[in-house]
Amino acid sequence: MSDIYDLFGIDKKLKEVAEITEAEIRSEFYQIDRTAEYNAAKVLAAFQKNRVSEGCLGTTTGYGYDDMGRDTLDKVYADAFGAEDALVRVNFVSGTHALSTALFGVLRPGDTMVSVTGKPYDTLEEVIGIAGKAGNGSLKDFGINYKQIDLLPNGMPNIESIKKNIKGEKVAYIQRSRGYSLRPAYTIETIKQIVDAVKSVSPETYVIVDNCYGEFIETTEPVGVGADLQIGSLIKNPGGGIAQTGGYIAGKKELVELCSYRLTCVGMGRDEGCTMGQNRELYLGFFHAPTVTAAAVKTSCFAAQLFRNLGFKAYPAKGEKHGDIITAIELGNEENLEAFCRGLQKGSPVDSYVTPEPWDMPGYRDKVIMAAGTFTMGASIELSGDGPIRPPYAVWMQGGLTYPAGKIGVLSAADEILKLTDFYI
Ligand SMILES: *Cc1c(COP(=O)(O)O)cnc(C)c1O
Repeated sequence: MSDIYDLFGIDKKLKEVAEITEAEIRSEFYQIDRTAEYNAAKVLAAFQKNRVSEGCLGTTTGYGYDDMGRDTLDKVYADAFGAEDALVRVNFVSGTHALSTALFGVLRPGDTMVSVTGKPYDTLEEVIGIAGKAGNGSLKDFGINYKQIDLLPNGMPNIESIKKNIKGEKVAYIQRSRGYSLRPAYTIETIKQIVDAVKSVSPETYVIVDNCYGEFIETTEPVGVGADLQIGSLIKNPGGGIAQTGGYIAGKKELVELCSYRLTCVGMGRDEGCTMGQNRELYLGFFHAPTVTAAAVKTSCFAAQLFRNLGFKAYPAKGEKHGDIITAIELGNEENLEAFCRGLQKGSPVDSYVTPEPWDMPGYRDKVIMAAGTFTMGASIELSGDGPIRPPYAVWMQGGLTYPAGKIGVLSAADEILKLTDFYI
């Protein structure tokens, strides 16, 4: 069995560490499989309840009136997530677009958005108006105020400060995933604590969750513990590696309605928007999403524990509950970071022969290196990794459509780093 790894040039010595690693994380894998089983059943039940039929897998063009597949998929997502309603559209070009649509959909001039989990994801800064040019049409340009409640030194939300500062504000905004930081991703339990804190002092405040990378990690979603909206990208967890584009917004019915007016036009809302042959992919992807997410979490567990065994700091810590599919590994120097990305790319199904190199990216202070040998461009539910060329030379790795392939990618990344050392001598 382990001889198959010879095909990838994985040395016996590394295979031994991999075997020890897998033995150490067996109980985590057991839990991940249990969660996947529950979530896959939840999704199947939502398909059956909403009578998904062959007709739903068809397509529309033009205005997209009466697209049965599109309208039924909204209900399938809503039921599977435990939401009143959902808006699932290929017309969302990315996660940021879905998040921006939700913020513009809900907030009005004079309102305040309070980010209660510190600084949000980089791409949201221009949407909010804390970066970029005035006059571009950010929330700020439309008279929407922004406040931020910083995290505690341990990376957890400051519940006391949230309670003191949220009263009467329109939106409390939570980012679940760690993004490009080393803070933990938040579990459903932590999200519930924040929701309870907000609602205890300000029941009228809407809690909106950036749920990117968070779907199907646990058996409950943020809307299941009182969040008013959750938002995500279909080239991450809920697209199951099959959706080619899109995003979703799920939660309170009246808020989803407002978001639909922002996605298209006031009055038109969700009744227009053709699906151009994508319905089948979206259904199939959502059907696979619980087990694909489980494969990504297993790949993450394996990567973190393997690199700890090789002497690196890796997060989430052993035994720490996952809140997303990301692993952050501190690689210590530029050579290791480049070697990691080179190896990860080498272990990918697409573009495995390509060598990633650091480059200047718009919006980033330092050069960034990225590895992504993916079927869908930029899909980070597929095995991928990246990091800025600056201390602590950390890589943020995520995805893995299947655990066997994810494991090979991770071993290949480790191998490239170990070749720089005397490990094999
Ligand atoms: C991926 C992601 C987004 C959205 O990014 P897009 O590249 O626009 O899809 C937003 N927030 C977090 C935490 C993310 O991981």
